[in-house]
Amino acid sequence: MARRVAVVSGSNKGIGLEVVRALCRHFDGDVFLTARDTDRGQQALQKLQEEQLKPLFHQLDIGDIESIRKLRAFMLQKYGGIDVLVNNAGIAFKVADTTPFGTQAEVTMATNFFATRDMCTELLTLIKPHGRVVNVSSMCGASALLNCSPELQKKFRSTSITEDELVELMRKFVNDAKNGVHTQQGWPSSAYGVTKLGLTVLSMIHARRLSKERAADKILLNACCPGWVKTDMAGPNAPGTAEEGAVTPVYLALLPEGAEGPHGQYVSAKTVQPW
Ligand code: NAP
Repeated sequence: MARRVAVVSGSNKGIGLEVVRALCRHFDGDVFLTARDTDRGQQALQKLQEEQLKPLFHQLDIGDIESIRKLRAFMLQKYGGIDVLVNNAGIAFKVADTTPFGTQAEVTMATNFFATRDMCTELLTLIKPHGRVVNVSSMCGASALLNCSPELQKKFRSTSITEDELVELMRKFVNDAKNGVHTQQGWPSSAYGVTKLGLTVLSMIHARRLSKERAADKILLNACCPGWVKTDMAGPNAPGTAEEGAVTPVYLALLPEGAEGPHGQYVSAKTVQPW
């Protein structure tokens, strides 16, 4: 049987790096640290090697479909699939950034929602039986939901929303933001929040699909919030450490074989949250 393998996107620093560090210690198999920039990835790899850990490296830019497909081909050829996938890579504009809101919405959506969706489209079929998929979302997505109009909230809570409908809504948000009408159209004023709201709903859709189409494989897929932790993204005033931010993603990545859940949930502090 092929060796087990875990892959973490955006893991040259921050929460992703801590997820790799923890998986190196607790996951029974190979752990891939990935980065869009090979030099930054190799430097992170070296840091972990100095701690006697043995992660492996593969380049991965989730915004580049060819890069995703190269990783896919490699995983298929070398391991026959993927056991654990942590979609961690993400971006956020700083609060003080003066880039127009519409541009912030477009750029953030491209990575946090559309590029992560490309990862899922390309890699979900590779997830092996008893595999685990963790999408690192955010509490900002949960607050964005609460700040949507009642009609939008209903759509995002619907258990019958399709991936195409969700994609259309995310595109609509970007267009509304660019046209300066997002508030009138019932959207909240956090572009990052809406991208993570989209990612959480996408996770729920994918989990339902797995339950329907691959029930016997018992794959568990969830979205989570890592907590508000000190990283380049969140800045030095966040209360937690990046290591603490890895706790919930790692818990979901290592749910033991035979576990029935959580599945298709939004999880924070290792606890399923209401949506
Ligand atoms: P971070 O320190 O800024 O790290 C983000 C990582 O994502 C970096 O490795 C970055 O690579 C990578 N990345 C960005 N775009 C990418 C792309 N197109 N392809 C591949 N990698 C890419 O941020 P973090 O705080 O660790 O965030 C990790 C995840 O947690 C994100 O999804 C974030 O939204 C989420 N989150 C964080 C907090 C928090 O308090 N920190 C709270 C809630 C949710 P480069 O180094 O090349 O830029």
